Amino acid sequence: IHSSVRNISSRKISKIKDVMIVGSGLMGAGIAQVAAAAGMNVHLVDQSSDALERAKEQIKDSMGKFAKKQFPDDKQKAQTHVQETMGKIRCHTDPCVPAGQADIIIEAIVENLEVKRDLFHRLDVVAANHTIFASNTSSLSIGAIAASTSRRDRFGGLHFFSPVPMMKLLEVIRIDQTSDDTFDSMMEFAKTIGKAPVACKDTPGFIVNRLLIPYMCEAVRMVERGDATPADIDTAMQLGAGYKIGPLALMDFTGVDLGKHIIDGWHKADPTNPVFQPSGLIDKMVREGKFGRKSGHGFYDYS
Ligand code: NAD
Repeated sequence: IHSSVRNISSRKISKIKDVMIVGSGLMGAGIAQVAAAAGMNVHLVDQSSDALERAKEQIKDSMGKFAKKQFPDDKQKAQTHVQETMGKIRCHTDPCVPAGQADIIIEAIVENLEVKRDLFHRLDVVAANHTIFASNTSSLSIGAIAASTSRRDRFGGLHFFSPVPMMKLLEVIRIDQTSDDTFDSMMEFAKTIGKAPVACKDTPGFIVNRLLIPYMCEAVRMVERGDATPADIDTAMQLGAGYKIGPLALMDFTGVDLGKHIIDGWHKADPTNPVFQPSGLIDKMVREGKFGRKSGHGFYDYS
């Protein structure tokens, strides 16, 4: 016990002040917002300048709502807080421009292994030596992404949840090569931006999705077999297990197509694992464009 305590206290935790985020979509914009609101300098990068413009608008809107709650009786203070936070964010279309200044680079681009590997490979050349690289991937292996760089000891995963400004949880993922200093810095970063970090290894789905996706798929299999209706399964899990939302309503909310994408990827990587088996009903729903809430139809009708 004593030696491990000594080890932790002698570790060097790099203070993260400059954050670069690549991908300014749903997740990247949210990450930029929480980092800027915590006083960090943020470089937000996207290949599309339209996406950057949309991100800035979205952040300003969301910050406005937060500031109203934070300073309910002082409009001026609320406005100043929004302006100061927005002033912390610089936008770029070329990731190589701000990379040299970043203490950490968080990637939140398209969920495609080759595209992510290519980005990190290019950044590895231009980023400073101490810079930590982190991916926000939901379903890809962090180790497979990190292998495109020469800094696997300074590589990890930071898996945020949507909507980022509201969701407290942050899964902090270490690969076998992640150094203790890197891991400690990522944990410290998570706390500084107001998140509750949990540590996990680089396994499919980390903690939340690894439990949630097979659970939702099992509920779909119950529907497929005709064991119970979607409404009864959802009511049962809400009233019987104390969940806020049932598994099928949840799948409609997160997207049936996203569920299929994740389970198919895991099945391909580990075909004999019984909880990674694809579902005929999910495949059929995706073929018919029944993606859940966003398409108006899923296990329920939203039109
Ligand atoms: P999104 O489509 O909203 O945004 C992705 C952005 O990345 C787009 O603006 C796109 O222009 C940009 N982009 C794509 N390729 C790029 C490149 N090579 N260089 C620079 N910019 C590029 O996607 P999202 O929902 O924000 O997801 C981003 C990542 O976060 C994915 O890996 C996803 O798995 C992960 N994630 C998503 C969620 C979620 O709930 N949506 C939750 C956790 C993690």
